[in-house]
Amino acid sequence: MAAAEVAIIGAGLAGLGLALALHQQGIKATIYESRPGPLNIGGAVMLSPNALKILDALDLYQDVRGRGYNFDLLEWVKVTGEVIERYEFGGVEKYGYRANRCYRYELIDVLLSKIKQLGIPVEFGQKYVRVVEETDQQVIWESHDGARNTASFLVGADGIHSSVRRYLHPDLEPKFVGMAGITAVAPANKVTYPHGKIDKPLTVMSEDKGAFVIAPQRPDASEMFFGKQKRVDEKDRAGWEEFMSNKAELVKFLQEDAEAFGEVAFTATANIIPDKINVWPFYVIPPLERWASAKHRVVILGDAAHAIPPSAGQGINQAFEDVYMFSLLLAASKTKGVNFADALNFWQTYRQGRINKIMELNKQIDLRRLPKDKQPVGQTSAPVEQKEFDLQWLYEPDFRAEVEEWVRGTKGE
Ligand SMILES: Cc1cc2nc3c(=O)[nH]c(=O)nc-3n(C[C@H](O)[C@H](O)[C@H](O)COP(=O)(O)OP(=O)(O)OC[C@H]3O[C@@H](n4cnc5c(N)ncnc54)[C@H](O)[C@@H]3O)c2cc1C
Repeated sequence: MAAAEVAIIGAGLAGLGLALALHQQGIKATIYESRPGPLNIGGAVMLSPNALKILDALDLYQDVRGRGYNFDLLEWVKVTGEVIERYEFGGVEKYGYRANRCYRYELIDVLLSKIKQLGIPVEFGQKYVRVVEETDQQVIWESHDGARNTASFLVGADGIHSSVRRYLHPDLEPKFVGMAGITAVAPANKVTYPHGKIDKPLTVMSEDKGAFVIAPQRPDASEMFFGKQKRVDEKDRAGWEEFMSNKAELVKFLQEDAEAFGEVAFTATANIIPDKINVWPFYVIPPLERWASAKHRVVILGDAAHAIPPSAGQGINQAFEDVYMFSLLLAASKTKGVNFADALNFWQTYRQGRINKIMELNKQIDLRRLPKDKQPVGQTSAPVEQKEFDLQWLYEPDFRAEVEEWVRGTKGE
């Protein structure tokens, strides 16, 4: 088989999105995924307009819209139902798109179907192990079975525990923030909310017990997702597996203090669908000096480059921003004579700037959601003043225009 121009490690949402974005630019890619088949973990994710406009540009939005639950706002409410504050997650008039809460496997299916339709190769059961050699022209890397592959570029879209990242940052380990999200799902018709219809994600606040989050999912809102955050000690892989397998303990945690959150928490936690209990330990990657190797042939993106805490629900949305801008910049380096090293610098600086702003947004959300004594480790160093939400900067940028402007700037146009 001819060497792929871009070898993408990981068929998560970043890897699949990248293959499609590169295809749109006429750049050939092959995806290598260690699992035997498509990823199906972690329940549903929330997509905001910054990512939805990218999915639209890749001709995927109409399909995605029909697969998830569409909404505009999140609300913080008191147990009495009184609305404390609203947070925009989307909105057609202001941002062009309603937000969408969609099962990850549905999204993966949308992207993978398009990939198959376009004939982009995906090799499942192929685990990247190490870079063997990188030159100015290409990179040779090895998979688990000892096979060696060659590509012009190797992109690590291999998630928070990325192996490709080890080539760039051998000593870096993801940092655990001391918190995990414990979540479950109940049939919507079993959940009682005495203050109206739950037609948007709600965060029910208790003064001393923190927050109980509940959100409709499935296109017809037939399921209610809900959860709480728990302070936990870090564990190794076997420890996390044991923690996740102890369903009775997880249900107990979700049910305890239910009276502090009212009838909605009682009815939801009394009707848990057993195979839909989930644990999400919150690991982060600190800002990295570089997302690309010195010879610019090996790049990381998505969670591999900047996994962030979940508070603002931007993890996956940021991964889509990474891949779309990367594909436009790689294309510009090929067709417009732009220096690729400069393009990578611009890309990382622009992208890290947005990640930093999301970290600030996360702090603002944590301030509202967690009791003071339960803030995640590493996020409480400086007292944070509560500010009103301003989300224009997050949803409004036109990423293609940003790249085109930068390209014009480098050429002095
Ligand atoms: C329970 C849970 C709920 C979440 N909810 C949300 C949410 O609501 N909103 C949101 O924005 N984000 C959410 N996130 C975060 C979001 O899932 C991540 O930000 C996102 O998945 C990152 O995408 P990725 O493609 O970079 O990495 P991943 O999704 O982790 O994909 C990496 C892929 O690489 C593969 N891989 C790993 N190593 C190798 C290797 N050596 N060789 C080949 N393949 C390899 C993996 O098998 C995997 O398929 C959630 C995460 C979890 C765990």
